[in-house]
Order: sequence, then C-alpha cells, then structure tokens
Amino acid sequence: MAVYQIVEIGAEVLREKAKEVKEVNPSIIKLLDNMVDTLFAADGVGLAAPQIGVSKRVVVVKVDEVLFELINPVILEKEGANSAEEGCLSIPNITGDVVRAARIRVQGLNRNGQLLDFQAERLLARALQHEIDHLEGILFVDVAKKTYRS
Ligand SMILES: [Zn+2]
Repeated sequence: MAVYQIVEIGAEVLREKAKEVKEVNPSIIKLLDNMVDTLFAADGVGLAAPQIGVSKRVVVVKVDEVLFELINPVILEKEGANSAEEGCLSIPNITGDVVRAARIRVQGLNRNGQLLDFQAERLLARALQHEIDHLEGILFVDVAKKTYRS
C-alpha cells in the first residue's frame, strides 16, 4: 500500500496535458493501486494521476461503493446539463458550482487492458468529467460559475 501526497493547485503537473498510456503494464497497475490507496486515504470521490504527480491518462473514481479505474478515458457522448457543487483534493477549502453534462458515455481501458464502454449519470458522470478534465490540465475552479471558500 502506498499513499501519495496529493499535489496542490500551483503545481505545474496539474496544468499539463497528461500523456496517453501506451501499454497496460505492471507499472500502470502499480500506479492504479497507489491512486486507489491515496483516494481512499483522502476519503475522496475521484483522483487523476497528475494529482499524485504522474502526468499519465489514468483516473480512479469511487461512487456508491463502486470503484472505477480507467486508463486513457474518453467521453464519447454528452447529454443534458446540471449544476452542482464540487471540490477537489488538489484545491483545499474551496468549492464551486460547476455545470456538467448530466449523462455521458465513456470509454477507457481497465487494469486488464480490456476496453470498457458505459453510460454514466448523476455523481458518477460528474466525477468522471471532473477527473478527465484533470488530464487536460483543467481544474474545476477554471470552469466554475462561482466558487466558495469553506
Ligand atoms: Zn480534482
């Protein structure tokens, strides 16, 4: 088990476009394990690899006790829109209202290198959009209508 320090806003790695994973090899599996450990230790909903300082296209999200691990995730379809309050493990003490697509269709590889293709809505859709934004160097405060200090 390895819990990493979460990189905070201001760090260059959070603003880089993360690199595509070419091969799901043992180092990617280890990265996923470390990301899950770090997510659970921080009691968060989602984590993107750049948040532990690794500029790779890997995200983990846990919603309703279901863990999603996605390598090279891509949003293929977006439908509807709603606004809700978000926070980010990399931006302590700030929340904000963010409009996201209500329903999305996502593709990505799992840790076995198999292609997943699924629909998501509600919190799962929101969390995936937030994490996939991280892979583009976008933080929720960039897209929030309004932010709050908590
Ligand atoms: Zn975040």
